[in-house]
Amino acid sequence: MMVLMALLLVPPGIPEAISAWRSDLERQFGVKTPIVYVGERIQGDPEGLDLARNQLRNPDFQRQFAMMQAAMVSHRTGGTDRWVVILNMDLYESWKGYEEALLGHELGHIWLRARRLPTPAFRGGDYGCLAVHTGDVVQHVLIRAEMDRRGIDHRGFLMKNLDDSARAMEERQAAGDPCAWARQAALWVDARLAFAAHPWPGRARYEAAAAAMFPESGKAAAEIIDLIAGLDLDDPLVHRQALMDVFSILSKLAVRQKDLSGR
Ligand SMILES: [Zn+2]
Repeated sequence: MMVLMALLLVPPGIPEAISAWRSDLERQFGVKTPIVYVGERIQGDPEGLDLARNQLRNPDFQRQFAMMQAAMVSHRTGGTDRWVVILNMDLYESWKGYEEALLGHELGHIWLRARRLPTPAFRGGDYGCLAVHTGDVVQHVLIRAEMDRRGIDHRGFLMKNLDDSARAMEERQAAGDPCAWARQAALWVDARLAFAAHPWPGRARYEAAAAAMFPESGKAAAEIIDLIAGLDLDDPLVHRQALMDVFSILSKLAVRQKDLSGR
């Protein structure tokens, strides 16, 4: 019993491809990427502990984080940015064995910020949520390409999450908040682009479940895919325009759904 408890308190190890990316971020951009594990205890890289603890004192963030597997937190002081990647150990069972994909995704967001590519400004409420999904849709294109280049296996984890989400939709467990349609559209874009040239056995089941529950999101996803196909998103101006166009598609979707549900 004591042995088991000791094992559970030891955070999972860092995969090699992740260590290599962290070293590159530090060398190329001077960016440190401490990793902190949040469960019964907050532990991990000492230089990230205070930033993680401060962020977790915010009750809004705490509520959001309870539903997230991981998050990236940044803080700007005196003109320099500090970052920390925090992993939710309370949800460990949901990401166990997929550390590479989970950490790679968060490092990808830090990498884009370090390159100073534009990000949508966060505002509260419904629009804050739209801004988050807008940024994700556009940034995930570049993050997936970089993870492929680095040999980071990320599709297995996305596949698992999509299959879980298909099951939840079949059981009608998906959240019905005003942002759910935009969230679903963003996830749908991820799914279609990530598996455009890769096998995914659950594809038909997912598409059917999502089409039944969020039909309008599928149309918005198709519109977004058409819009960003072939764009050079590494170019900051192109990137910024893509963010604005995706935001406009997602806002129209959210507003339309609000009108419909208000009737
Ligand atoms: Zn993301």
